[in-house]
Amino acid sequence: MQFGFRPAVAISFVLIVASVFAQVLPSASAPNSDPTYQQLRNIGLSGESVSVNHLVLKRDAATFRLRSGTVCFLAPVQGKVTGAVFSGEGNVVIDPPVSEIRSMYLLTKEQEFSESFSQLVLRFTDGTYDEIKKGGGSSSGTCDSDVLSDSKHAMRHNPYLKYNLEARLLQDVLSPEPGDFFLAFIHGKKYSDKEIFAIDPQGAPPLLLPVAPEEVELLTYADNKLGIWGAFHLKDEYASGLASGAQKNALIHIEQQQLDSTIEKSAHLDGKATTTFISQVNGLRVVPFDLHRTLRVESVTASNGQALSFIQEDKNDDADFAVILPSPLALGQKFTLTTVYSGKDAVINRGGGNYFPAARQDWYPNNANSSLGEYTSYNLTFHIPKGMKMAATGNLVSESNDGGQNVTVWKSNVPLTVAGFNFGRFRKEEVTLTKPDYVVQSFANEEPPDWVQGLQHAVSDDLPTMGPHASGVALGTMSTTGLIKKALAEGQLAAQLYSDYFGTPSYNRLAVTQQTDCHFGQAWPTLVWIPMCYFFDTTIRHQLGMDFGDRGYWKIVTPHEVAHQWWGHTVGFNSYRDQWMSEGFAEMSASLYLQMIEKDPKKFISFWNDERELLTERDPEGFRAIDVGPVTMGYRLSNTKAGFATTRRLIYPKGAYILHMVRMMMWDRQKGDQPFKETMQEFVKTYANSAATTEDFKAILEKHMTPAMDLDGNHKMDWFFNEYVYGTALPSYKLSYDFAPGADGDMVFSFKLSQSNVDENFRMTVPIYFELANGNVVRIGSVRAVGNTTVEQKAPFKGLKDKPRRALVNYYDDVLASP
Ligand SMILES: [Zn+2]
Repeated sequence: MQFGFRPAVAISFVLIVASVFAQVLPSASAPNSDPTYQQLRNIGLSGESVSVNHLVLKRDAATFRLRSGTVCFLAPVQGKVTGAVFSGEGNVVIDPPVSEIRSMYLLTKEQEFSESFSQLVLRFTDGTYDEIKKGGGSSSGTCDSDVLSDSKHAMRHNPYLKYNLEARLLQDVLSPEPGDFFLAFIHGKKYSDKEIFAIDPQGAPPLLLPVAPEEVELLTYADNKLGIWGAFHLKDEYASGLASGAQKNALIHIEQQQLDSTIEKSAHLDGKATTTFISQVNGLRVVPFDLHRTLRVESVTASNGQALSFIQEDKNDDADFAVILPSPLALGQKFTLTTVYSGKDAVINRGGGNYFPAARQDWYPNNANSSLGEYTSYNLTFHIPKGMKMAATGNLVSESNDGGQNVTVWKSNVPLTVAGFNFGRFRKEEVTLTKPDYVVQSFANEEPPDWVQGLQHAVSDDLPTMGPHASGVALGTMSTTGLIKKALAEGQLAAQLYSDYFGTPSYNRLAVTQQTDCHFGQAWPTLVWIPMCYFFDTTIRHQLGMDFGDRGYWKIVTPHEVAHQWWGHTVGFNSYRDQWMSEGFAEMSASLYLQMIEKDPKKFISFWNDERELLTERDPEGFRAIDVGPVTMGYRLSNTKAGFATTRRLIYPKGAYILHMVRMMMWDRQKGDQPFKETMQEFVKTYANSAATTEDFKAILEKHMTPAMDLDGNHKMDWFFNEYVYGTALPSYKLSYDFAPGADGDMVFSFKLSQSNVDENFRMTVPIYFELANGNVVRIGSVRAVGNTTVEQKAPFKGLKDKPRRALVNYYDDVLASP
C-alpha cells in the first residue's frame, strides 16, 4: 500500500480518482450531493394544510391530542410526506412501562408526563400524514415556518443532539419498504420547550446517549434540563418477548473490517476501510456508520469499483457518516464497500513520542448505534513513523520497516467487539504464561508527554519551597522502567487469577499500554490503556493536582481493565441496560485481586467501604447514586436533575456489590469459592464472543444457586434481582447480642438482629461472624429476615468454651447495606 507519500502525492492521487469518477458518475463522489437527500435537507412547508379539532394521534406510549389548530405539511419527497408543523392548542400524555415511571418522575415530579403545547414539529415516515389528513378538515390557515427551521437547527447544531435526521429519513424515503419512524419536537409549556419524543424500529436515535435496541425515547435537550427521561421498547414487544437487551434491530451486521491506517508524526490519520456487512432488513438503501467527526470521508466505492454517494456534514454539525447504496439490499444480503478518509484529532500528538488515540471506537467506520455487543473479524494494517511501536487489538501477524515507516499487520483469531490501537516511542517487555497459554506485554513510553514535562517545570521552577520531594521524586518516579514492570506484573497476576475464577478468555494475549490522559482507563480486546498517573504514587498525584478522588477504581485501574477481557469483550453487552455487568464485574474482579494477590484483608474491606461510600454520598444535586435508579438504567441515570456523576458512582460500585453478594451467598465452608467459580465459568463459556443480558446472567445463576439462596422457594433469584438489580434497596442492620456459658459450659449466643429501611417484601439472608478469642474471624451462620423486622434467637455453640471477642454482621460486606 502506498499510503505513505504525503501530503502532495496522496492528495493529488485522490483528486485524480475523484475527477475520473466525476466524468463517469457526475457528483457521485461529492459528499451530500444526493438530490433526494438535498430535498430533505432543504425541505419546507408545501402549502398544504388541514384544520384539526380534537384529533388524537397515538404513537406507542404517547397520545397527542390536537384540540384545535392547523397542521401544515412539509413538501413531499419522492411522493412521501415526511413532516408536519402544528400550531394551535394541544397536549401529549406519555404512558411508559411501569419501570420507567421513576425516571420520568425526576423530570415531572408527577406520576405522569402530561405536557401542553401550542407548537409541534413532527417528522415521520409512518402513516402520520394520511392519519392527520383523514382526521382534519379543510383549512386556509398557515403555520409558522420558523418552528421548522428551529427544529432543523437544533438537530444540526445543538451540542447535545447533532444528529443527521435527514439521513435517517432518507433511508425510509429511498426504501421500497414502508417506514415506521416518528419524531416529535414538542415545545412544551410545563416541563421544557425543548422536548423530543421519538420512535424508531431500528433503535431510537442516539440523541444525548444511545439507547438502542430500545425504540422509544423521551428526552429534553435544554442546558438546564438535560436528560433521557424515558427509553423503552415498543409496546407489543413486551408481549412478544422481544423487549430485551438481546434484541438486534440495527440495520446491518458488520462481518468483516479490513483497516489500513497511516498515522503521521503530527498524528494526522489516513484510513482506508474495506467493510463487509450483511443487511438486517429488506430495502436497505442508506447505511449509517459511526465515524469520528474530524475524519473526513474522501470517497466510498463498492467492490466493483463504482463510486457511491455518501453523506457527511461539517465536522462541527451533524457529521454522521452514511452511505447511499446504488440499489436496495434484501434481508441477509452481503455488501462490501471501501471508505477512504483522513483527518486530525482522532489521534493527538502529546509530545515526547506520546500519542493519544482520542477516537476509540470510531476511528474507522463502525456500526452506528452499536455498543459492545457486535462481533466482527478485523484485519488491521498500521503505518506509523519509524522508531515508534504499535500495540493493536488482535494478534501481530507481521512487522516490517518500509522506508520511513514501521508497518504492522494484526488479525483477530476470533471476532471482536471493537478494534483499537496505542502507539508511541514505547519500550516493551513481555512474559509468557503457560496456565493459561497467554502472553502479557507491557508498553511504556520512554519519555513523558509535554504536559508532565510542563508540570515538572512548574513544580521545580515555581514552587521551590516544596523541598526535594517535589521535583526530584516526581521526575524519578515518572521514568518508565518502574511503570513497565508494575504494569507487567499486575497484568500477569490478574490474568492468571481471573482465568482461575472465570475460565479462559477468548484471547491469548494482552498488551497493557500507557495512556497520557489521566482521567480514565479503557480496555479493548487484547489491549488496555492505563492512565499513566495510576503509576505515580499518591504524593506525586497530589502534587500534580491529580487526585480525582482516590477511591474505588483509581486504586485498582490495571486489575479492573484486565478484567474487561472477560467482562465486556469475551462476554459483551448489546444494550446500555447490561453495561453494569461489564463495569461492575470488572470492578468486583479487582476486589478478588486485592484479596488473593495482594493478600491484604484490610485493603479488601476498605475497598468495599469505598465502593459503598460512592453509592451513598450525596452529590452536589443532593442525590445518593443508589437512590436515583437501578443499575440497569446505566448511563441514562446521568442528567441535570440527579447530576452527571451518578452513573459512574452507581454502575461500577453497585455492579461490583451485586456480584460480590453472589460470591458471598455461594461461598461454602468446604468448597470455598468453587460454586461461584463454576457459575462464572459457565457464564463465560456460554456467552463467549457474544452479548449477554442481565437476564442471561440471572438464568445461569439460577442454574447454580444453592438451596440457601432460594428465599422464595421457587428456585428463582427474582427476590435478589428485584431488590438489587432492578431495584434500589439499601437495608440497615443492627445486631445486639450477648455471650454467656450454658449449663455444659458451651457458649450460648443470644442476639437480636433488626432489618430496617426496606419494603415489606424485602428478604435477605444476613451472615453473622464471630471474632474468636484468638482473633480469627469466622462465619457462624446466617439469619433470614423479611421486611422491617427484628429476629431474636438463642443459639448454643457446642464445644465453644472461650467467649468470642465480638459478633459481627456483614463482616465481608456480604450484603450491601447502610454502614
Ligand atoms: Zn471499566
